[in-house]
Amino acid sequence: MTIEKDTRGTDLDIKDAIEGHERFRLQFERDKAFFKSLAIKKQKPRLLWIGCADSRVVPAQITSADPGELFEIRNIANVVPPADAADDAVGAAIEYGVGHLGIDDIVVCGHTHCGGIQALLEPIPPGREAHLGRWVEFTRPAHQLIAAAGLPQEERLTETIKAHVQFQLDNLMTYAIVREGVAAGRINVHAWLYDMDAGALSAYDPATGEWRGLLEMAGA
Ligand SMILES: [Zn+2]
Repeated sequence: MTIEKDTRGTDLDIKDAIEGHERFRLQFERDKAFFKSLAIKKQKPRLLWIGCADSRVVPAQITSADPGELFEIRNIANVVPPADAADDAVGAAIEYGVGHLGIDDIVVCGHTHCGGIQALLEPIPPGREAHLGRWVEFTRPAHQLIAAAGLPQEERLTETIKAHVQFQLDNLMTYAIVREGVAAGRINVHAWLYDMDAGALSAYDPATGEWRGLLEMAGA
């Protein structure tokens, strides 16, 4: 693997980020009052968003959220490890978001064409990629459920992605702060899916057991 450089020897990926930052600096100057207010006030995000690390699926873009509105956990395949699993990154953010920031809506959002979900079906070198190998095991329950359902091949990945999101809602309930908040009616949890081809969100509707367009649900 070689690193792409321009004629002056600058790494092109970094050059891109520097130029992007230059454009952001102009925006910062234009919206200075807003950005300053972010720095002064404590953050008060509307949602805890648990989504995939996939660079193509940008939570703030698909919800038109401004800085300060989404408290995000992003990891491969939008995993919520169960509370007793050997991972504190997700649990710490859940406890901070709910306990300290007072967030009362938690969204777990999967997306179509998710490489993190597909990864379980591909060989992962156990020595060199031990972390990745262990991580994608969190997607196994959804794979097992959908494999047992005997669906046509072309539906399998998307159905696995949906089932995986629903399993992560179950895992959210293993955290006392979420479980107690939901039981008391203080917290709502939401299973969402971003369709990359359509550019549209859908949500699991527990009342009907079906996935429906988010806009359609909101209008119903
Ligand atoms: Zn993904």
